[in-house]
Amino acid sequence: SLFIALLFLSIALIRKNANDHLMALTDPLTRLANRRKFDEMLYQEWYRCRRLHSPLSIIMADVDLFKKYNDTFGHKAGDLLLCRIAGVLEDHTKRIGDLAVRYGGEEFVLLLPNMDAASAFALAEKIRNTVSQTASTGVIRHPGHRITVSLGVATAIPEEGMNPEVLVLEADKAMYQAKRAGRNQTRQNNGE
Ligand code: GH3
Ligand code: MG
Ligand code: MG
Repeated sequence: SLFIALLFLSIALIRKNANDHLMALTDPLTRLANRRKFDEMLYQEWYRCRRLHSPLSIIMADVDLFKKYNDTFGHKAGDLLLCRIAGVLEDHTKRIGDLAVRYGGEEFVLLLPNMDAASAFALAEKIRNTVSQTASTGVIRHPGHRITVSLGVATAIPEEGMNPEVLVLEADKAMYQAKRAGRNQTRQNNGE
């Protein structure tokens, strides 16, 4: 029976470790993957796509004027809105290997293996439209207040000597171009 007790203890510890590991890779508010998980998967998918000569796309999405939203409706409503947007992103990352991530604050990133530039742009636009049409339902009590996101898309076919971090920087740059151009729009790294 000592053996049985030790067996159960081991199982409990293994389960706790697995759970701790999962928690360390999950954003507690939205339940999306967190930035640490993204960093792991970015490298993994980068090398997979490199082997397959397949494109890897990422989409950065940042909530527009979210500080004003918090100031107007309160931090709790802000949290709820982030969960809503996370739900929209989840709904749009259903293929195997797709990953929706809360990158930090009100910034999200999607990792999209085997997705070319045109498809990634189309997906970003679909997300943008869905957010502006539905993400605000039930959150906003004030009519006329529309929730929007600005998105930056970057795509590369990974090659030796290229760094996956460059893809993140390019998506970030594209996203800021979308902000500067007036928000609620999508910009892309390679001219499309
Ligand atoms: P922009 O369109 O340029 O992105 O403007 P912005 O207001 O969205 O950007 P800014 O970086 O000025 O403000 C981001 C705000 O996001 C400020 C911060 O309080 C809020 N925020 C970050 N994380 C959370 C969170 O977990 N919950 C809530 N409610 N707010 C958050
Ligand atoms: Mg913002
Ligand atoms: Mg931001």
